[in-house]
Amino acid sequence: MSAQNTTTGDDLADLVAVARRVAQERYAPMAEEADRARQTLPPEERRYLASLGWLGIALPERFGGAGGTFRQALAVIEELAKVYVPAAFQVFEANVGPAQHVNRLGTEEQRKRYLPAVIAGELTMAIGISEPDAGSAATDLTTRAEIVGDEVVLNGRKRWISGGGEADAYLIYARMSDEPGSRGIGAVIVEADRPGMSYGARERLMGFRGIASADVVMENVRVPVDNILVRPPDGFRKLFTNFSIERLGNTTMSLALGQAALDAAVAYVQQREQFGRPIAEFQAVQLTLADMLLQVESARLLRDRAVAELDAGHVNTLHVSLAKLAANEMAKRVTDLAMLLHGGNGYTEEYGLERLHRDAHGWAIAGGTPTMQRIRIASELLGRSFDQRRPSASQKAPVKQGASTNQEAPTNQEGTA
Ligand SMILES: Cc1cc2nc3c(=O)[nH]c(=O)nc-3n(C[C@H](O)[C@H](O)[C@H](O)COP(=O)(O)OP(=O)(O)OC[C@H]3O[C@@H](n4cnc5c(N)ncnc54)[C@H](O)[C@@H]3O)c2cc1C
Repeated sequence: MSAQNTTTGDDLADLVAVARRVAQERYAPMAEEADRARQTLPPEERRYLASLGWLGIALPERFGGAGGTFRQALAVIEELAKVYVPAAFQVFEANVGPAQHVNRLGTEEQRKRYLPAVIAGELTMAIGISEPDAGSAATDLTTRAEIVGDEVVLNGRKRWISGGGEADAYLIYARMSDEPGSRGIGAVIVEADRPGMSYGARERLMGFRGIASADVVMENVRVPVDNILVRPPDGFRKLFTNFSIERLGNTTMSLALGQAALDAAVAYVQQREQFGRPIAEFQAVQLTLADMLLQVESARLLRDRAVAELDAGHVNTLHVSLAKLAANEMAKRVTDLAMLLHGGNGYTEEYGLERLHRDAHGWAIAGGTPTMQRIRIASELLGRSFDQRRPSASQKAPVKQGASTNQEAPTNQEGTA
C-alpha cells in the first residue's frame, strides 16, 4: 500500500476503512500486553506506518508527504487511537505535532533537513515547552537559548516531554532575549545526540504507558543558528497559533477514546444479561447510553468545525479550545460510564476500558488543562485579556472572538502548553 493509495483519494471513507482494518488486525492483538509492559512503539512499526503514507498525510508532497488535509490525518489518528494510542501518537507527532511546526514555521532548508526523514519514519521529533516551574504558565519558562557567534547555546530543563529520551530531535521553547514573558521566547531544534543533552528517568504515568515521558536536560548544548525555528518577539505568538493544530490532534485522541468506550458499551449491554434480560433493556442503562452518545457527538461536531476551519486556512482559537475542552471532559466521563456499564469486567485490564480511562486523563492535562481552556474561552468570549498574575487587573484584548491565524495572540500570560 503506498501513500497515494491511502491518503490522496477523495473518499475519506476509504482511508478510514483502511485505518480501521490496520488497527484491528495489527494493533488490537498487541495493545493490552504492550500497555502492561509500558512498551513504546518499535521503530519497525513506525516505518510500517510510514509505508502506508500516514506520517506525511498533512505534509507537502515535495518531501514525500501526501499534501492532504488535516481532516484526513485526524481520521487516521482517530481510528488508530481507538485501538492503540502509541501507534496513533506517531501519526500525531508527524502530522500535527513538532514536524508540522517545522513545516509551517521553518525555513525551506529546515523542512528539507527534517521532513523527509520524519515522513519516512526514520526520525522522530518531540516538543519541549513545559518545565518544572512553568506548566500552565508556559511563559514563565527559564530555559535559555543564547546566540554566540553562529551558534546557539542552550541551558535548561524540560519536563513531561512525550517522547523524551527516545526522540531524535526536540523542538525546544526557550528564552532568547531579556524581554519578559512571551516576548522573549523563541524555539530551537535540538538534535538528541548533541553533547550536553541528557534525559531524566522515564516517568511512570497513570496512562500514556506506550509513550515515553522524561525530563530533557540541556547543559551548554550548542547547535548552529540555522536550527532556530522562530525568534522573539513574535515567535511565541506564532508557536501558539500553530499549537492549535496540535490541540486538534489532542482533541481527536480524546474523541477516539470516548468513541471506543461507547462502542464497547453498546455491544456489551446487549450481550450481558441480568435478572433474565439483556441489561440494555433497563431504562437506566438506556439513559446512560443516550448521555454517552450525546457527549461523544457534541465533541465530534465541535472538533469537525474547528478542523474544517483549519483546512480552509483559518485557525479559530476559540473553536479549538471549545473542541479540546469538550473532548477531554467527554473522554474522561464516557470511559468512566463505559466501565460502570461493564460492571466488574470494566475494572479489569482484559476489557481495556480502564486503559482508555487512564489515557483520557492524560490527554486532558497535555496541551493545556481544561481549566486553562476555560480561561481562554472566557477571555475570547469577553474580548478581554485577564492577566493571571494580577487577578484584579485586566485590559482590552487586541483580538476579536475566535481570532484568526496571523493576528492571534495569547489572550493572557498563560501559554497552556
Ligand atoms: C500525558 C502528558 C503529556 C505531556 N506532554 C508534554 C509534551 O510533550 N511537551 C510539553 O512541553 N509538555 C507536555 N506535558 C505537560 C503539560 O503541558 C502540563 O502538564 C500542563 O500544561 C499543566 O502544567 P503543570 O503540570 O505544570 O500543572 P500546573 O500548571 O501546575 O497546574 C496545576 C493545576 O492548577 C491549575 N491552574 C494553573 N494556573 C491556573 C489559573 N491561572 N487559574 C486556574 N487554575 C490554574 C491547572 O488547571 C491545574 O489544574 C504533558 C503532560 C502530560 C500529563
